[in-house]
Amino acid sequence: MQSATRASRGCLRTGSRNVLRPPLSPKVQLRFASSSSRPIRSSAVIVAIGAVSLIAFPVYVALFPKHPALQPQVYTDLTVFSTQRVTPQHASIGIPIPPGSRSLFGIDAVRRDRSKPEDGEIVIQHLYVKNPDLMIERPYTPVNNVERDGIANIVVKKVQGGEVGRHIHGLHAGDSIGIRGPVTTFAINPTKYDKIIMISTGTGISPFLQLLDKLPVTSSTELHILHSLPKPDKQDWVVSSGLLPRLQDRFGDQLTVDRIPPGSIPEVALESALRGADKAKVMVLVCLPPNLLKSVAGPMAPNLGQGPLRGTLADLGLSPANVVKLE
Ligand SMILES: Cc1cc2nc3c(=O)[nH]c(=O)nc-3n(C[C@H](O)[C@H](O)[C@H](O)COP(=O)(O)OP(=O)(O)OC[C@H]3O[C@@H](n4cnc5c(N)ncnc54)[C@H](O)[C@@H]3O)c2cc1C
Repeated sequence: MQSATRASRGCLRTGSRNVLRPPLSPKVQLRFASSSSRPIRSSAVIVAIGAVSLIAFPVYVALFPKHPALQPQVYTDLTVFSTQRVTPQHASIGIPIPPGSRSLFGIDAVRRDRSKPEDGEIVIQHLYVKNPDLMIERPYTPVNNVERDGIANIVVKKVQGGEVGRHIHGLHAGDSIGIRGPVTTFAINPTKYDKIIMISTGTGISPFLQLLDKLPVTSSTELHILHSLPKPDKQDWVVSSGLLPRLQDRFGDQLTVDRIPPGSIPEVALESALRGADKAKVMVLVCLPPNLLKSVAGPMAPNLGQGPLRGTLADLGLSPANVVKLE
């Protein structure tokens, strides 16, 4: 037993097949040690170092990327690129997304059940931002096509006593921001519909701004936004930010924008948006606070599922397959 162990120690292992080979003969070892072979030895060492570096560098970059990757379940600290006060209540924040994570917002985006979208389907997503002092998070929806721009632009409303809104409004360019995501909000294939109607108030329009920014201009689907005006003493962030006017320029007559008075969503506005449309080929997307959502489309289910279709849209003859509720 002992002699077998000694024999193994005296052998060299070849890498792949675990074959034991006898050690180099003393003659060979002496040749390597002789001074006349120094130039050969140093060039061999240089070649070896070069080869190792060529392999090691990409491996190092892959294992320790300069920009950390975004993940839906784990926070990544990124650096705020820009902040802009678009109204006294609304701040627009630009967050550069690490290059390796940009495809998560486009080509590698997934549906809510994590399946791959079909051809032409557009995935709308949100990100979670944390308040590091309180360890709480809130979701925010980029208003742009993040994969194309390499930057996520979120517009955040500051509400009275709002913990995360206050934190975000206090950020400046160069500050660190903890985010996780993207998380899928919903997916829609516009090619399946003649018309898409989008109903919202306040920052509830954000998923629709993202959808329209991701929608190719070549799309022939008719687009109709019903969005409430701000209260008379407040400024209109969708206009002052330039976001809605830019989309109107982009889509021209294909996009109708109806601004409705603040408060409840008038039935007549819904009726008029649906007039003349083939109800089987219409998709109505509704992003409203719970009380307004209830009267337009019925409440969400307690588990934030869609719940039954009720309210004005049910009265107007739409079926659940033609309505997506968002809160
Ligand atoms: C999927 C998803 C995407 C979202 N995207 C955005 C977005 O892009 N931009 C954005 O600003 N918000 C967005 N929200 C809302 C956001 O997540 C927070 O709920 C909101 O910013 C308030 O958080 P807070 O911590 O500042 O206030 P909190 O501490 O949660 O609330 C403080 C108080 O303000 C009240 N309050 C909360 N929201 C409002 C409101 N909108 N108006 C009036 N009072 C309110 C609360 O009831 C509470 O009394 C989104 C929500 C969801 C579910």
